[in-house]
Amino acid sequence: MSHLFYQTSQRRPLLDQARGVYLWDVDGKRYLDGSSGAMVCNIGHSNPNVLDAMRRQMEKSTFGYRLHFETEASEQLAARTAALCPEGMNKVFFVSGGSEAVESAIKLARQHALAVGQGGRWKVISRSPSYHGCTLGALAITGYAPLTEPFAPMMRAMPRVPAPRAYLDGLDPADPATGAHYAAMLEAEILAQGPDSVLAFVVEPVGGASTGALVPPVGYMEAVQEICRRHGVLLILDEVMTGAGRTGRFLALEHWGLSPDIVVLSKGFAAGYVPLGAIVARDDLVAAVLEGGGFLHGFTYAGNPLACAAGTAVIDEIARLDLVQNAETMGAALRKRLDGLAARHPVIGDVRGLGLLMAFEMMADHDSKAPLPAHLNAHQRLVDIAYDMGLIVYSRRTRDGIEGDHIMVCPPLIVGEQHLDEITDTLDAALTRLA
Ligand code: PLP
Repeated sequence: MSHLFYQTSQRRPLLDQARGVYLWDVDGKRYLDGSSGAMVCNIGHSNPNVLDAMRRQMEKSTFGYRLHFETEASEQLAARTAALCPEGMNKVFFVSGGSEAVESAIKLARQHALAVGQGGRWKVISRSPSYHGCTLGALAITGYAPLTEPFAPMMRAMPRVPAPRAYLDGLDPADPATGAHYAAMLEAEILAQGPDSVLAFVVEPVGGASTGALVPPVGYMEAVQEICRRHGVLLILDEVMTGAGRTGRFLALEHWGLSPDIVVLSKGFAAGYVPLGAIVARDDLVAAVLEGGGFLHGFTYAGNPLACAAGTAVIDEIARLDLVQNAETMGAALRKRLDGLAARHPVIGDVRGLGLLMAFEMMADHDSKAPLPAHLNAHQRLVDIAYDMGLIVYSRRTRDGIEGDHIMVCPPLIVGEQHLDEITDTLDAALTRLA
């Protein structure tokens, strides 16, 4: 009998060990990590240089409370992180995960509004569908009803705008009019809410598990930034899943040359070696909050030296192994293979993504984009079949009201062509079994 509990009573095999892109359970069965856990293990498992860096830090110190000590490890990671962010974003605040980071970004934004005499700004607009975390503050801006509804009475309702799912709305994502169309919805919402009451817009630059690697239409992100600036609304980019090289840039914002107010990082930032997250904010924004009395926020484990040493070692490995470039190259190679699968399996209705944040959506009909009936539970069945065959992929059914089955295929950024072949051959067999 196990004393652990998680979301459901379903039990999984006991993990024995993990190396590179593979994991083994205690019975010796091997699994290819086709989703990097939950899009986390960007540099692969058990990287010896990260383990060495962690060991060295553990021999020096494993905890120094932030009210008593700064640590070299946290100073170093803050400097390395800031150097990878747009100019003028040099202020880093550490936490232990994505939800904590999103909460921190929202609270920093609110304190900034108070510090600059704009206390009427408190509404945070986000998109639907979206996922920003499971703590109550992050959940309040998450656009995915099955997760939020039970807790709705406990959270202040926040405004939402539709995620730009051009493929569902029959629009061409390459047409600049499409990006402008969805961005205009944000402006309309800001105007409807009253611009002086809107604090921030929080957005995943490439959608994560909630939209299945949704790439924004041409011009959308740039337009969204311009609209936020014009209305004095802070732009918070949730790069928890897209950061640390996943999309073929260290930060996804580089694809569009964006300069947000706050960037949120976790997942690939410490690549699963330790719990770690961060927010990186504009210098002047943080200065105003500190001058205004300080940031009323902080977690006991924040800036933990072991976590920070691991984070720096992960950034070193991303650079040493040229993983951002590999994500771009292997991402293109993976897309070709998934397009090939789509040609063989009509159930695949859309292939999308950027770099190694890739997904495909299963549908009943390509033209109408009609979803598969919910009772088929196709996404979970496919994941289970693949798992039996030794391939881990990640799924969600998230079409807000309408069901849609997407499968995230997001292996560690260290993958080579041979791993992509193994992934697509297994998916091919799993889709055949599903049919
Ligand atoms: N933001 C995004 C975009 C995510 O994908 C996630 C997790 O999936 C989170 C926030 C929450 O992160 P965590 O699960 O580490 O709290």
